[in-house]
Amino acid sequence: MRIIVTGGGWAGLTTAVELTRHGASVTLLEAGSRLGGRARSIEHNGLRLDNGQHLLLGAYRDTLRLLEIMGVPESSVVERRPLELLYKAPNRPDIRLACPSLPAPLHLVTALLRAEGLTVGERLNALSLCRGLLASGFAIEHDIPLATWLGHQRQSPALIRALWQPLCLAVLNTPLHEASTQVFLRVLQDAFTRSHSDSHLLLTRTDLCQLLPQPAQRFIERHGGEIKLNHRVQELIIEDNVIHGVTANGQTITADHVVLAVPPITCQRLLAPHPTLHGIARQLAAMGHEPICTVYLQYPPQTRLPIPMVGLLDTTAQWVFDRALYGQQGLMAVVISGPGPHMAMSKGELSTHITRELASIFPHWPAPHHSIGEGVVIREKYATFSCRANINALRPQAKTPIRGLWLAGDYTDTGYPATLEGAVRSGMTCARGIKQR
Ligand SMILES: Cc1cc2nc3c(=O)[nH]c(=O)nc-3n(C[C@H](O)[C@H](O)[C@H](O)COP(=O)(O)OP(=O)(O)OC[C@H]3O[C@@H](n4cnc5c(N)ncnc54)[C@H](O)[C@@H]3O)c2cc1C
Repeated sequence: MRIIVTGGGWAGLTTAVELTRHGASVTLLEAGSRLGGRARSIEHNGLRLDNGQHLLLGAYRDTLRLLEIMGVPESSVVERRPLELLYKAPNRPDIRLACPSLPAPLHLVTALLRAEGLTVGERLNALSLCRGLLASGFAIEHDIPLATWLGHQRQSPALIRALWQPLCLAVLNTPLHEASTQVFLRVLQDAFTRSHSDSHLLLTRTDLCQLLPQPAQRFIERHGGEIKLNHRVQELIIEDNVIHGVTANGQTITADHVVLAVPPITCQRLLAPHPTLHGIARQLAAMGHEPICTVYLQYPPQTRLPIPMVGLLDTTAQWVFDRALYGQQGLMAVVISGPGPHMAMSKGELSTHITRELASIFPHWPAPHHSIGEGVVIREKYATFSCRANINALRPQAKTPIRGLWLAGDYTDTGYPATLEGAVRSGMTCARGIKQR
């Protein structure tokens, strides 16, 4: 059985690993010159950076299983830490939430009861919401915007600002007044109700390419698969509702199955010429997308955060990550999720603005130095699909009405937001579907 996987992001790589593992003959075609897609590493003036700082959760079970399949020890690529959230804001006390090592969901209840920087009323407010969720199995009847749902749960504006809003942006990358309650609750349920270790934070120890794309490439090639970089798929060859292959770089490549593991916008373009696929193409066109911006600033090597990742409130900067864990002492990665005025600022303006914000929160820090210019600003305009209320109705399944044509990617019907776990899960689902054939 000849299979073409189109796209070498985490979804395409997972599909190819899983299929070659079971003896299928797979050719992976990637348009770019390197693997990894939206989760890849880049070089800047000799410095190894990621195209965006990524964080994984203990709840990413399919991702962890994939690493195991490829023989990558978890501890060699990520550092596992019990959940600890520290939020800092200019001129306000810190907020700190830490999950003790108790069984789920007792660890969450205790974390909320002991949260520092929230009033007793706010802690009880959050607890009563969690109690309601545990009783209802995290199910809601109709998906509505998260801000509306939190209002129905009588969460105070202060609690929303300090707890729910930053979590919503971190998890869904979509503003609170639009975000899907259903998808948000799905992530909370997986992270907090199954096992204590699901709530752990997994901080990457290596760059993103070493974490998954490189081991995946080695695995695929060792198992007889072929990876072709700089091969952009231009057309799908479909006759009588059966796929026969693709054209890439002007060449026809035939196959029994074709997996499209490309971003939704590219997928829509490839599906649009085929009338049977117009319904899916229309759904993809309606999905929308959200940006993520990462600003890297190099401080003197002794500059450290109190914990590897700190949330910031009332500032443009939302999270700051200490890259000392990667051996990059003094390098800070500042993450800004979702849209905002920062997207229109020049790179220089934005890094100066962020430097000032960090100085107001960490007044003892020295000024950043200019070894990486004014800072490196990476804006991914199409970072994730827009995870709005009712988005699940637009997300296509892996199997399409064309025989042999499959879809994989974080945007497909995984129940998860656009995440590494969503991408890996979609790849697994696709491979399973093909194996069953
Ligand atoms: C800045 C940023 C920060 C993020 N932070 C996190 C995080 O902290 N935690 C988390 O879990 N997730 C995070 N995400 C989301 C995560 O990176 C994505 O959900 C995931 O990488 C998507 O993988 P994918 O394989 O579905 O798609 P993609 O990575 O987009 O892969 C698609 C691939 O297809 C290729 N391609 C496109 N067109 C063609 C064509 N015509 N022919 C051949 N190949 C083609 C592309 O080059 C690409 O390699 C972040 C994303 C970004 C951008």
